[in-house]
Amino acid sequence: TLKGKTALVTGSTSGIGLAIASELASQGANIVLNGFGDADAAVKQIASYGVAVRYHGADMSQPAEIEAMMRYAAAELGAVDILVNNAGIQHVAALEHFPPERWDAIIAINLTAAFHTSRLAIPAMRERNWGRIVNVASVHGLVASRQKSAYVAAKHGLIGLTKVAALELAETGVTCNAICPGWVRTPLVMEQIEARAREEGVSVQEAQRELLSEKQPSHDFVTAEQLGQLVVFLCSPAASQIRGAAWNVDGGWVAQ
Ligand code: NAD
Repeated sequence: TLKGKTALVTGSTSGIGLAIASELASQGANIVLNGFGDADAAVKQIASYGVAVRYHGADMSQPAEIEAMMRYAAAELGAVDILVNNAGIQHVAALEHFPPERWDAIIAINLTAAFHTSRLAIPAMRERNWGRIVNVASVHGLVASRQKSAYVAAKHGLIGLTKVAALELAETGVTCNAICPGWVRTPLVMEQIEARAREEGVSVQEAQRELLSEKQPSHDFVTAEQLGQLVVFLCSPAASQIRGAAWNVDGGWVAQ
């Protein structure tokens, strides 16, 4: 049980982040939500588990706002025990046409934000000799695809950061791991499926089938709930010696 623990999940107003927050709440953890989606609906969903829940709207590309969020979390629910770095954005374009401001935003939100939240959360975790940091990377932290230079670079970087944190914390009760999903049907991926349907003049259904058959051997989506349950496992005593892992949940994507 995670009763009495405080979990902060960045980018948790929708998709994978909200599902991770829900699974942690179902185990009794108090939750700090963050993100740009429907905060009221997300707060309501988490409160239904009978845990304490707060929301902070910090923009993960802004270090000062991240600092304010970490102070708010500690003041409201006590220092963060479980930190899930999940907020992420995507942009799809060839390297030579990639808008430099999109590059900067993806590196800031998908990589640098995790550096800031981690450096701010670690001191209190060390003090209590317990903590869990889970970085939501991607199969694109392990292998590449065309047209995703910034995302692939950021996710590879996030796995590197994960390994360094795991080593620096190796003699403590604080672990740091990354999880690496393949395709999960969330707003972030529906955008790519719809773009593909438009470009190829096919139905959304057909575009979805093509997307899966290209990379994901199971031809089936990973669910956000499955990822939430993996995070719960990584928070359990059974996972205390899992350190610096980059755990793929991808229907076989990186086995190829
Ligand atoms: P999503 O778009 O549903 O959720 C992203 C969340 O991040 C939202 O709550 C959004 O409001 C928030 N967010 C975006 N920019 C932000 C910012 N600047 N500051 C704070 N919050 C911000 O996407 P998702 O698919 O649930 O993605 C969650 C994570 O999972 C991302 O890191 C993504 O790279 C990763 N991921 C997703 C898939 C997939 O197939 N969907 C696969 C592998 C990895």
